[in-house]
Amino acid sequence: MNRTALAWVMGKVLPPMLACASAAMAADAPASRVFAGRDLNVSPGADFFAHANGAWIRNTPIPADRSSYGIDEELQDLTDRRTAEVMRQAAKASAPPGSDVRRIGDYFASVLDEESIEAKGLAPLAPALDAIAAIGDRSSLAVALGRRLRADVDVLNATRTYTPNVFGLWVAQDLDEPTRYAPFLLQGGLGLPDREYYLQDTPRMAGIRARYREHLAVLLKLAGDADAREQAARIFALEVQIAKAHASLADTEDVKKGDNHWTRARFDAQAPGMDWAAFFGAAGLGSQAEFVVWQPRALIGIAALVGSEPIATWKEYLRFHTLDRFSGYLPKDFVAEQFRFSEHTLSGTPQMQPRWKRAVAATNFALGDAVGRLYVERYFAASAKARAEQMAQALIAAFDKRIEDLTWMAPETKRMARAKLASLRVDVGYPEHWRDYSSLEVVLGDAVGNLQRAEDFEYRRNLAKLGHKIDRDEWVMNPQLVSAVNLPAMNVIQFPAAILQPPLFSPGNTAAMNFGATGAAIGHEIGHSFDDQGARFDASGRLQNWWAAQDFEHFAASGEALVHQYDGYRPFPDMAVRGKQTLGENIADLAGLVASFDAYRFSLGGVAAPLVDGLTGDQQFFLSFAQSWRSKWREPALRRQIITDEHAPDEYRVDTVRNIDAWYEAFAVKPGDALYLAPNDRVRIW
Ligand SMILES: [Zn+2]
Repeated sequence: MNRTALAWVMGKVLPPMLACASAAMAADAPASRVFAGRDLNVSPGADFFAHANGAWIRNTPIPADRSSYGIDEELQDLTDRRTAEVMRQAAKASAPPGSDVRRIGDYFASVLDEESIEAKGLAPLAPALDAIAAIGDRSSLAVALGRRLRADVDVLNATRTYTPNVFGLWVAQDLDEPTRYAPFLLQGGLGLPDREYYLQDTPRMAGIRARYREHLAVLLKLAGDADAREQAARIFALEVQIAKAHASLADTEDVKKGDNHWTRARFDAQAPGMDWAAFFGAAGLGSQAEFVVWQPRALIGIAALVGSEPIATWKEYLRFHTLDRFSGYLPKDFVAEQFRFSEHTLSGTPQMQPRWKRAVAATNFALGDAVGRLYVERYFAASAKARAEQMAQALIAAFDKRIEDLTWMAPETKRMARAKLASLRVDVGYPEHWRDYSSLEVVLGDAVGNLQRAEDFEYRRNLAKLGHKIDRDEWVMNPQLVSAVNLPAMNVIQFPAAILQPPLFSPGNTAAMNFGATGAAIGHEIGHSFDDQGARFDASGRLQNWWAAQDFEHFAASGEALVHQYDGYRPFPDMAVRGKQTLGENIADLAGLVASFDAYRFSLGGVAAPLVDGLTGDQQFFLSFAQSWRSKWREPALRRQIITDEHAPDEYRVDTVRNIDAWYEAFAVKPGDALYLAPNDRVRIW
């Protein structure tokens, strides 16, 4: 653990002389546990994921409160334990009222206080449920839907495209005019993870639907409704209608399909059924002249249902979703039912997480930036930040060289691509400015009210961006989250502190290991600027074509080849990976890995890489990459991921290596090996 005081405002670190950086890395003794967990009975060419991780997979049980487990979860567990300690100390600190430390402590303690939650029963939700009961006509229904609008979706930056309300709001750069913010409206309103759960005609999905109808009835019964079963049937039928209107995930990912600018008048003309004036007025968007409607067909379909379905059914639907949204903050029968359905049925998790872990997640959700500030003070070393920034610069240099050397791209397209790369901003660890929570009231002992106020705070914070200058300093992830992100319209990539930890990243690792794991992850995020969607944005973040027609054709054809490659992977006999849905991620994986390999090679400065456990530098590089995707999954969770996630399962992300000549050389992979691809079949994009 590091207890390093950080300078809060840090200038950009200049790229180091690469040979110096590598000398420092080579001098460090590698940690001893690296490259454990391999299965040497499986040859690299037969199954590289199993070769790198087979023994680990055999010997590591998935913890009972997890639906999957791997390096990311291992790091997140460590980070959560540390974050919990930060929160416990905040709760004990008697910090001044109105301070962020007090907010954190009170929020955390309120979620932990089961006794008072139990004693209050449903009383904290009474105002919300009474407001639903008072809905009398279509206009007051539209007001209720507008009031529930939350800033809880994000189609480009993070993976979250799902909201429990009929629509979700995302405030982000206007893709046509990236100097200003625009309000994006996204589809929502489903209790199951995706439209396919409602519409797929398979026994497995039919079983999940039956259990969901049961869940609807159980929750309403717990709330005292005598006709819970009849209500459940009506609510479910309404959600099936909503699901039929929804766009697929592959269509939702397509920025060309999503970038639809609608004037306010167009809603009334083209999406009848909803009282839009009432809706937008209640949402605080009454004076907004233009919106981006990401899935027009879904918006039109849902508006029609608001106009056609009985008001009584909509009230039942809203009542259920209010109970469902808050059930984790209600008495234990609600908590247990929510776990039974959302975690056990949908993801296969046998056991609920302990209360403290849920309280950490809840507090991070509400006050993540303030918690992150305390977290990085204690647990993120300035040296780790500096080293990651150096690696990012090395990756950008390697990427630039690759663009320069491309044989299929015309000089003018290259110039544009390199200009875009040169203006890419890399943020490491934490934001330069922390969020101001002073208008968020946190009341000790009011877990439900705190969540309601936190959601409202986040919504108002986003509304307040409209009409203001773009803030490129804003972070979309908390520093204590094990993840990373590329914001294509801002041309910024962000690496939270928590992902820059051993075993993924360590000063004690060789350059080959750090570039194979963290370098490939940094390269992956850079690669998103040049994936099938990211490549449509220019250096300023505008959705604007900068490609020569022939170059784009070549790029698109290479993408098709990658779609085909991933369509061929079958995690289950009845289910394949979705090449189109995962294309952006797969391009980013491939681009990131080849750029990181180059950066690692440059870093050696012509000196041979040190052997570790008898492994060459190139072998270390690819094994570190394969081990950074080490994970195992419960079947329902993996099936859910394939349907709802834009990433291919981890095992197939490792198979990116099949496209890289150096991997064949490093492990002597030959024709006849299961993973072998003839040189002409290897996909080469960047
Ligand atoms: Zn990605």
